[in-house]
Amino acid sequence: MKDFPHAGLSAVKAKLNEAAINAKRDPSSIDLIAVSKTFGAEEILPVLRAGQRKFGENRVQESLQKWPDLKQHFPDVELHLIGPLQSNKVKEAIALFDVVHTVDRLKIAQALATEANRQNKNLQYFIQVNIGNEDQKSGVAPEEANAFVDHCRNELSLNIVGLMCIPPVDEDPTPHFQALAQLAKRHNLTRLSMGMSGDFAIAIAAGSTDVRVGSAIFGHRAANPLLQAK
Ligand SMILES: *Cc1c(COP(=O)(O)O)cnc(C)c1O
Repeated sequence: MKDFPHAGLSAVKAKLNEAAINAKRDPSSIDLIAVSKTFGAEEILPVLRAGQRKFGENRVQESLQKWPDLKQHFPDVELHLIGPLQSNKVKEAIALFDVVHTVDRLKIAQALATEANRQNKNLQYFIQVNIGNEDQKSGVAPEEANAFVDHCRNELSLNIVGLMCIPPVDEDPTPHFQALAQLAKRHNLTRLSMGMSGDFAIAIAAGSTDVRVGSAIFGHRAANPLLQAK
């Protein structure tokens, strides 16, 4: 069956390809995660029909209202949790999501490990690093990242696939993206979740393998972007 084109998705894919080629990288080595937060099924369905299967959401509760239904029609959807996770939502998160990008503290890492075992589910996890050392932002401090990655892998047996960051908004993101890439390399972590609508081409130049793109695909969000805060 031929996919139905979606203008926003096509434009982002073209830009992703171009950024990859400019960086002398294989475009197929970069995963596009369509961030559908605040959008309902009527906006998400055309993107699904255009062939997109990886989606990002930043709230468990909101995701539960739309994705169980959508997944019935598109069972091969891969759902990524990209927003901060509270302990009381871990059970639902493990049941619904395939990948969690926001493992950012010991308590949550432990809860995820326990609950994934209980539900017999194998998720993939990124550790979120507060790469700009910002007071208001989630993530482990860069200087604590080494110990935290080791603990999650060795003591909790979490399948840590990479690192994730959101650089400070008013700064050049490149040095932050590069710092995250360096940290990942030290742990032989091959995946880097970095880059959003405004900076995903720059993130690809710095080695991103998972770009999280919302408004460039879906258009402007009516509600204020639910940006990450502690
Ligand atoms: C909302 C969000 C995105 C997507 O943002 P856009 O600027 O709309 O592309 C990416 N990552 C996280 C963590 C988000 O919360």
